[in-house]
Amino acid sequence: MTANPIIGVVVEHDGEDIKPVSFEVINAARKLADLTSGKVIVFCLGLKEEGAADFFIQKGADEVRFLDHPDLKNYIHENYGNALVQEFEKTPLDLLLLPATINGKELSAVLSARLGVGVATDCIAVSFLSGNEVEAVRPVSSGKALATVRFKGKKPHILTLRPNIFRGSEPSVKRVGEIFRTDILLPDFSMFAQELVKNVGTQLDITEARIVISGGLGMQGPENFKLLEELAEVLGGAVGASRPVVDNGWREYSNQVGQTGRTVSPDLYFACGISGSVQHLAGMASSRCIVAINTDPNAPIFSVADYGIIGDVLKVIPALTHEFRKTLTS
Ligand SMILES: Cc1cc2nc3c(=O)[nH]c(=O)nc-3n(C[C@H](O)[C@H](O)[C@H](O)COP(=O)(O)OP(=O)(O)OC[C@H]3O[C@@H](n4cnc5c(N)ncnc54)[C@H](O)[C@@H]3O)c2cc1C
Repeated sequence: MTANPIIGVVVEHDGEDIKPVSFEVINAARKLADLTSGKVIVFCLGLKEEGAADFFIQKGADEVRFLDHPDLKNYIHENYGNALVQEFEKTPLDLLLLPATINGKELSAVLSARLGVGVATDCIAVSFLSGNEVEAVRPVSSGKALATVRFKGKKPHILTLRPNIFRGSEPSVKRVGEIFRTDILLPDFSMFAQELVKNVGTQLDITEARIVISGGLGMQGPENFKLLEELAEVLGGAVGASRPVVDNGWREYSNQVGQTGRTVSPDLYFACGISGSVQHLAGMASSRCIVAINTDPNAPIFSVADYGIIGDVLKVIPALTHEFRKTLTS
C-alpha cells in the first residue's frame, strides 16, 4: 500500500457557489487518505471568497490552496491546466481526483497530456493496492460492463469520479487544516481565451442532481416540458430528455440522457413518456430508484423501473406535482 500519499482534489465552482459534486470528491479523497495516512490538498482556482475553505476542511481537506489570477475566474482549460501544472511542480502528487463533469473530464485530459500521466474518467470506485498501484473501476460499453484499471508509472495518477457515487460522511467541525493563497502567472494569451466563455445558465446540472425528471417523445411537444419543470421545482430536481427530444430541438443537448448524451446516477429518476431503448438505459440504468410513466404497458422502460405508472404523462405529472407540493409544504 502507498505510504502517506498526497492526494489532490480540484473543486468546481460557478464563480460564487461550489458545485456539490466537489464535496463528494473530497470525501472520496479523505477515505483513501485515512486508509493510507495520506494528505488531502484541495485546489480551488479563481475564487476570491475564502468561506468555502472551512467546508473543504470539514469534509476532509488537510490543506486548501486558492490559486489566483484574474483569468482564472471562469473555467478555461488552458488557464486551469497552466495553473495546476505550476502547482504540481512545487508539490508532486500521487493521485489527482476531479469530478467527472464536463469541465472535470476535459481538465483531466489536458493535465494528463501536459504531465504525460495516465487518466481514468468516470470512475465509480478507487483504491490503493500493494506496490504503489492504484486501481479504479469504471463503466464501459454504455454501462454494460465494468472495467478495472490499474495505474503504474509516472504520477500523479488522474481520475475523475462519477457524481452521486462518492457521497458520504457528514462534515466534521472539529477538523482543522491550512489555507494558502497563491498568485499564479499565466501566459499573455490567457486573456484572449476569456472571450470564449459562454454563460451556460444556473440550472441544476442533470449529472449532479439527486432527482432527474426526464421526458421523451411521449411528452408530445416542447410546451409540455413545463410540466416536468414544475415537478422538478417542487422536488428540487433537474429536467432531462431522450435523444429524439433533443434532436427535435425541444430541449438542449446538455439535457440529453443516454449513450450519446450524459450519464446520470440520481437517487430518483422519472422516465416520462420514454420507451426505454438500450441507448437511453445506458445513461440512467444505475439510478437508485426509477419511476416510469407510460401509456404502453409493454414499454421496455417498465423492465428496469422500480415503480411503473401506466397512464398519460399529461395527466399523471400534474397530479404528482400537486400531491408532492401538498406533502412537502404541509
Ligand atoms: C447510436 C445511437 C445513439 C443513441 N443515443 C441515445 C441517447 O443518448 N439517448 C436516448 O434517449 N436515445 C438515444 N438513441 C435513440 C434511441 O434508440 C431511441 O430512439 C430513443 O431513446 C427513443 O426516445 P423516446 O423514448 O423519447 O421515444 P419513443 O421510443 O418514441 O418512445 C415514446 C414513448 O412515449 C410513450 N407515450 C406516448 N404518448 C404518451 C403519453 N401521452 N403518456 C405517456 N407515455 C406516452 C410511448 O408509449 C413510448 O413508449 C440513440 C440511438 C442510436 C442509434
